[in-house]
Order: sequence, then C-alpha cells, then structure tokens
Amino acid sequence: MNPQSRNFCPRCGSETDVVQREAKPQDFCPSCSEVIWRNSIPWGGVSLVSDPGEIVMIKRGNEPDRGKWSIPAGFLELGEHPRKAAARELEEESGLTVQPEHLSIAECVAHSHPDGTETFGVVYAGRLKECRRQDVCVRRC
Ligand SMILES: [Zn+2]
Repeated sequence: MNPQSRNFCPRCGSETDVVQREAKPQDFCPSCSEVIWRNSIPWGGVSLVSDPGEIVMIKRGNEPDRGKWSIPAGFLELGEHPRKAAARELEEESGLTVQPEHLSIAECVAHSHPDGTETFGVVYAGRLKECRRQDVCVRRC
C-alpha cells in the first residue's frame, strides 16, 4: 500500500475505495463521489558553496538514507515558503545561517521513494560568504 494513501475521506470520514485513474491507483470516496488527490510531499534544501568550490554537506540522521551525505534539506512546515524552509533546515542541520533572500532557485527535484512516497523539492543555491557563521568545516566535493 502506498504510504500516502488515505483509508478515510478527509471530508466525510467514509472509508475510501481505490480506483484506477489514468493507469494509477487513486483513492476515491464513494459517499462524496470524489477522487481524493494525493500530492507529492514538498521539501526545501540548500546547496551552499564557498569560493574555492566546497559545498556544505550533512550526514543524514534519519531514514531514508540514514548515514549518507546530503545537502541540508527537509520538509516544509504548513504554510512555509520553500525558501524559508531551506534556510531553516540549513540552520537546524549545520548551524549555519543564511538570509532566505540570499538564496536563489538552483533545481527542482521530483523523487519516487522505494516505499511509494512521492516528494518534490526545491533546491536553492547560496554562497558561504553570505552566512553569518563561517567557523564550520565544509567538504570538498
Ligand atoms: Zn467523502
């Protein structure tokens, strides 16, 4: 089962059915006669680069990919702009701070995870010299 499936309708609370729509399984509420849309989970991340071409990387503490290197990134909070989420995640995961307005969009990434979860991320680029803290190590990529 897809982890993003809904067993109950968010509008009326009825049990949902699964129907095939455009060759994909889709949750459907028989009481409301409406498809319950699944959406990708949004996230924001930062690719922070220094002048000699080094990039800030963090070692993932959670699944998926626990223990692997990644750019600082994480899921958006409700109502949060991806640029602010990217700056918040950078600070939470690396201790570095950057003003969100100093970040520019570098890439958008849609990803299907092995467990069926679908995510969509916006990766922002920034320069390390724009951070308030520069006393952390960066890794050469
Ligand atoms: Zn319903």
